[in-house]
Amino acid sequence: MTKFCPKCGEKLVDEAKFCKNCGEDITDAAPAANVVQTPESEPSHTFAIVLGYVFAILIPLIGIIISIYLLTRRESARATKHGKIILILSVVLWAITLFTLMLW
Ligand SMILES: [Zn+2]
Repeated sequence: MTKFCPKCGEKLVDEAKFCKNCGEDITDAAPAANVVQTPESEPSHTFAIVLGYVFAILIPLIGIIISIYLLTRRESARATKHGKIILILSVVLWAITLFTLMLW
């Protein structure tokens, strides 16, 4: 089977790793699609987000702490987005809890 350089179209031998015409790396030309990043590359944040929602409802004070942790994950837009929701949820539920306790 004859291969051709993906960059310049030069005819190549089967065992070639580099194009003899332009120097293009042939070895990574075909499986390049496998290198595409998947959204599953942040499993730790997913765990923190789930924990944040659970604690926001059960123990709002811990929910606020987790939301602050998520809001400081500047590299992840997903973590900061959920961090804001968890913070609002925690504060609202904490206010409702305090208000209910005051009425009793
Ligand atoms: Zn080439």
